[in-house]
Amino acid sequence: MTGNHNRCIKVSETRICTFCYSCKIIKNGHTKTGKQQHICKQCNHRFLNYYSYNAYRKDIDFLIIQLIKEGLGIRSIARVLNISTTTLLKRILDIAGNIRSPVLSFGKTYEVDEMRFFIRKKSNPMWLTYAMDKTTLS
Ligand SMILES: [Zn+2]
Repeated sequence: MTGNHNRCIKVSETRICTFCYSCKIIKNGHTKTGKQQHICKQCNHRFLNYYSYNAYRKDIDFLIIQLIKEGLGIRSIARVLNISTTTLLKRILDIAGNIRSPVLSFGKTYEVDEMRFFIRKKSNPMWLTYAMDKTTLS
């Protein structure tokens, strides 16, 4: 157990599901390493009393998004959050996969910019284009 666990909120103390915030959680066996597992009778999610790795913290995705917005690189974010670069890259792909395209409405003004770049060779050009609503920054 490292020092990080002192900051953790243990499920056994709160008795609240971390996914649906229901109080209907019961014990559900142990892991191979002997950690207590719980299951939520409301949403059927299984989870541990506490997690040893920072990558499983519930707020980690939010922190990753914030640090990317601040312009930190992959290795910097991995160092700051104390997770591996491989895990971080997988998380970023997960987060990117869950992004839905925004609803564009008529009569609004958007700031548009584009950038042309090449993948591996000059004969493989790609375009990156973004449109942003200046008032909401979304
Ligand atoms: Zn639940």
